[in-house]
Amino acid sequence: MTKSARVGLYLDPEIIVRNSGYLEALRDRIGLNWVILTFNGKLPPEVLAHSPYDSVPPSPARVRELIAYHLDGQPCTDDLTVALRGVGPHVSASTPQKDAEMRQAIAMCHAAGLDVWFMAGMYTAHESLMFCPGNKENERWYEAYYTHLATAYGVQGIDITHARFPKTSLPRGIFLCACAACTQAATELGYDMEAMRSDIAHALTRFKQLTLKQLSTLATNTLGPLDALHFVGLRPGLLDWFRFRADLIARNMKHFHTVVHQAAGPDFVFGADNYPASLSLFAGHDQTRWGEFSDFASPLLSHVDAFPMKTWAAWAQQFQVWFPQLPEAEALQLAYRLGGYADLDLPDNLADFALGEPDSEYRHMPLREIVRSDMAKAKLYLPEGLPAYPIIQGGGAPWDWPLPTVQQLMADALDLGYAGYIFQGTRVLMDYDLK
Ligand SMILES: [Zn+2]
Repeated sequence: MTKSARVGLYLDPEIIVRNSGYLEALRDRIGLNWVILTFNGKLPPEVLAHSPYDSVPPSPARVRELIAYHLDGQPCTDDLTVALRGVGPHVSASTPQKDAEMRQAIAMCHAAGLDVWFMAGMYTAHESLMFCPGNKENERWYEAYYTHLATAYGVQGIDITHARFPKTSLPRGIFLCACAACTQAATELGYDMEAMRSDIAHALTRFKQLTLKQLSTLATNTLGPLDALHFVGLRPGLLDWFRFRADLIARNMKHFHTVVHQAAGPDFVFGADNYPASLSLFAGHDQTRWGEFSDFASPLLSHVDAFPMKTWAAWAQQFQVWFPQLPEAEALQLAYRLGGYADLDLPDNLADFALGEPDSEYRHMPLREIVRSDMAKAKLYLPEGLPAYPIIQGGGAPWDWPLPTVQQLMADALDLGYAGYIFQGTRVLMDYDLK
C-alpha cells in the first residue's frame, strides 16, 4: 500500500451504522480516505415538487413520457417496474428512520476522519430502462435532487453513476434516444436527427452486405481508425450520432456541475464515473471532455462480466444473427476487434465465458490485462491533472477477484498515474466480521 494513494469505498449507511469500528478498521488497514455513500434519505416536499412524476407511484403513461425512445420509435423498454417504485427518477420512497440512519452514518464517517460523497443515479436506471436525457422535466428533477444532496447533509461531494446511455451489452441501447425532446436537443447542438437516422440505416445495410471473407478479414487483421468505416460508408450522420450523444451528456453534466457548485461552493466535488474506455463512446462518454463537467474521473472497471464480457457475447450473437454462417470464434473475434480488445488473449468460444459463475471474470479471462488495458486507455483520454481513481473490485460486489490480482491492479493504477482507487467491496482485502 502506497501511503499517498487516495482510497475510496462504496458503502450503504446501514452497514456503517450496524458495525461500529468498521470505518476505523478500513482507514487503518486499507488506507481508506473517503466513503461513497448510497443516498437513501427522505426528500423534502420542496424537492419532491420538482419530480416529473404525476403521483407516487407514477402512472405508467406518465413514465412513458419521460423515458428514452429508439431511432425506430420503440420505447427503451416495456418493463417499467423500477421506475414505478420511485418518487422520481432514481429515487425510491424513503422513511424518516432511513434518513436518520443515513445522517448517523455520515456523522460516523466524519468522526473517523473520512470524507463523504453521495452516490446518486442519472439517466440509465435498470437494464434498458433509461430516462430521456433531452427531457427538460427530467433535467429540473436532477437539478433539484443533486442540489439538495449537495447542501442538506454536510457531505463533501456527489458521485453520479449511470450518466450515460445503456450498457453496451444491450446493443439496442446504441440507438437511444431519438424522441421529440432529443430531436430538439440535437437541433440546439447543431445536429440533424433525420440525417443521423438515415445515415445509420445506410451503414447497417452496408454492414449486413459484407461477405464472410470480408468479415473474416475484418476480424483477424489489425485495423487503423478508419478501416472499419470503409465497410459502412463514411456518411457524417453515423459519426454525428456518437458525437451528439456525448455532446448531450456533456452539456447536461456541465449544467448540473454549475448549478451544484453555485449552491454548495467551489470546493464541493461534483462529477461522474466513466464507462470502460474502450467502449465508452458507445455509451455516450467522451473521456477527453471529462474535465469540462466533472471534478474527478473514476473509470468503472469493477464489472468485467457486465461491461466488456457481456458486450462481446451480445455483439458476437448479433453478428451471428445477421450472418448465420459466421463461426462463433470469428464472431467473437470481430466483437473483440470492434470493441478495442483484440490484442488481449481472449476465449474463442462463448462457453468459456462462464457467465453467471463467481469466477467467470478470471476462469478463462485475462482479468488483470482486461482491467489494465481500460485503465491505461482512460488515462490516455482523460485530461491531464484531473484527479482520477479507477473503480476496482475489493471483493464481494458482487464477485471476489483473487487477492494477487487486486494488489497487482492497485499497483498498476498508481504506475499509470492515477491518484488512488475506489473499491467495490473489501472482502478479499480485509477480514472483518460484518454484522
Ligand atoms: Zn429523448
